[in-house]
Amino acid sequence: MKEPTDRSCEICHPGHDRSKAKGLSLKYRELLLPVVVGLLIVLGATGLVREVFGLYIFLLAALVGGVPIVFEAVKGLLRKNMNVGVLISVALIASILIGEYFAGALVVFIMHIGELLENITVAKTGNAIRKLMDLKPKTARVRRADGEVVVPIEEVKLGDRVLVKSGERIPVDGVVASGQAAVNQASLTGESIPVEVSVGNEVFEGTLNELGVLEIATTKIGRETTLAHIIKLVEEAQADKAPAQRVADRFAKYFTPIILVIALAVYFATDDVVKAITVLIVACPCALVLATPTAVIAAVGNAARRGILIKGGRSLEAAGRVNAVVVDKTGTLTYGNPQVTDIRSFSEKTQADVLIRAAIAEKFSEHPLAKAIINKAHGLEVPDPSDFQVILGRGVVAYASEQKLILGNRKLLADHQIVLPQQAEEYLLAKEANGETCLLLAEDDRFLGVISVADVLRKGTSQAIATLREAGVKKIVMLTGDNPRTAAAIASLAGIDDFAADQLPEDKVNTVKRLKQQYKVAVIGDGINDAPALATADVGIAMGVIGSDAAIEAADIALLGDNLVQAAQAILLSRKALRVIKANIYAFSLGLNIVGMYLAIYGMVGPVEAALLHNLAAFVVVLNSARLIRYKSHAALTPQQTAI
Ligand code: ADP
Ligand code: MG
Repeated sequence: MKEPTDRSCEICHPGHDRSKAKGLSLKYRELLLPVVVGLLIVLGATGLVREVFGLYIFLLAALVGGVPIVFEAVKGLLRKNMNVGVLISVALIASILIGEYFAGALVVFIMHIGELLENITVAKTGNAIRKLMDLKPKTARVRRADGEVVVPIEEVKLGDRVLVKSGERIPVDGVVASGQAAVNQASLTGESIPVEVSVGNEVFEGTLNELGVLEIATTKIGRETTLAHIIKLVEEAQADKAPAQRVADRFAKYFTPIILVIALAVYFATDDVVKAITVLIVACPCALVLATPTAVIAAVGNAARRGILIKGGRSLEAAGRVNAVVVDKTGTLTYGNPQVTDIRSFSEKTQADVLIRAAIAEKFSEHPLAKAIINKAHGLEVPDPSDFQVILGRGVVAYASEQKLILGNRKLLADHQIVLPQQAEEYLLAKEANGETCLLLAEDDRFLGVISVADVLRKGTSQAIATLREAGVKKIVMLTGDNPRTAAAIASLAGIDDFAADQLPEDKVNTVKRLKQQYKVAVIGDGINDAPALATADVGIAMGVIGSDAAIEAADIALLGDNLVQAAQAILLSRKALRVIKANIYAFSLGLNIVGMYLAIYGMVGPVEAALLHNLAAFVVVLNSARLIRYKSHAALTPQQTAI
């Protein structure tokens, strides 16, 4: 489906299939050739050898180093691949023919050294995958009928009980069957505060059991685990071409014939072979070909180490252009884990009566608000409703012992023509101004009371918002199905001044569409509830997706952890990557190329300087991209430190 990632310049070094060249052959090509050619050049320059062999030692150097280059170029030509290796080869052969052996040898030497440096740096950028692979334990301690045995990881089967002690990495994905532990999931989520797990919790391959003993029922092994999934996604992402890359590719295709024509023109105009050769060498667009993929690989790898999965060059480039961010309120800005803060009866019923009826209505609801009520009713007897219906963005309607229970927001009660007493209105306004969400309860069209619920802003939320703004995001909008007053209170706590309240899921989609007419929009949401809005955005960023492969697949950027700061980091990193790519293409590739051609045509540089310049450009591009491996946005500094 995807071409193998070749991270070197296919144009100047055609036919190098780096994915196959492993071990000795790679070392031979990359190390031996420049060493041998370099030694020959040094030898040729020393007195005695020079007296005996004259310039022929340089010819030998040019041949030893040049034959592989010419060979690859011809191979490329046979595949009807008009590559720039041809340019170098033509230049090399021409310089030998006119007796410029020394220049030929030097050019060859510089080409090989350049390739070596390039490969070493590129290998470093590709490191992220190896680091992820290293997280895979090789063995597992399994409970069998005859006791505990340590077996190679390949022998673990689904359902096996795996034991993990303090200090060991968890070797499978599974569910805790017994025991409890503090598990550090930093390797996957980037969050270094350990997570407490106990019976029934999910655990993941490659995470570290810091303290405790776990017996895990294996649910996923081998290629199915979250870690394996992540590795595959990072591999695919690194092979994915950014749109900027496609432009460079198309350009490179026409490059070779154009340069050949220019060089010929220079030759006929000036009758100077050396000048024409110089043009050939300096024009080789290695730097251009390397400009984008090296940056994408470095940035995607950097992000992966922090639990941020950027799904390839396309997503990276899109995220780099984002200037508006839409965040969902519940579960994104807040923990999505609301607690009941107050129960108020506006009838003869007691608080407990109100709570029990609300709990009956919510008994089968999955909504976070429902969970808050069910938790609060813990220990009370809550019968099943006989019928139950979710009204999206409004609440629930349920039937219990012949009674109709209505629980939800104002709109839901208005739908049922239920009028609130003045007293209740005042109470609601006060609660909502405080950022609480009020759930109104009615029974058979009679208003009974209110349950107030509050969610807590995530740690680092306002820091993340401030970081986005500093990074140049012009518009930040909070979307919520909640009422305008609660929305306003939460938005102001988070430092967001734009919000849209009372939004049904389809309203959220329309709001995003409207923003897209004016901005490049990123939507940050939870990947399940907010999937439609995420899909509508230019860049969909799903948060807290560890354990949910579907949510990971669907997003453009998936945050394994649920730290909003990571969303800001992802956008900052993408912006930085886009700047690096632009500098690579315009300054270090096209810019240097044009300067080089100019200097060559006006005879200010010879073939050797041309080769140096050419390799310098490629190397600068690779180094510039490599900065992205270690790039840390200031938002990366201990997100845990900042309270709301
Ligand atoms: P958000 O956009 O903040 O995630 P939702 O669209 O899920 O919110 O819900 C919007 C509003 O609808 C809630 O603030 C609440 O008033 C009401 N609501 C939704 N589901 C329920 C429920 N199960 N019980 C009570 N009220 C609900
Ligand atoms: Mg929601």
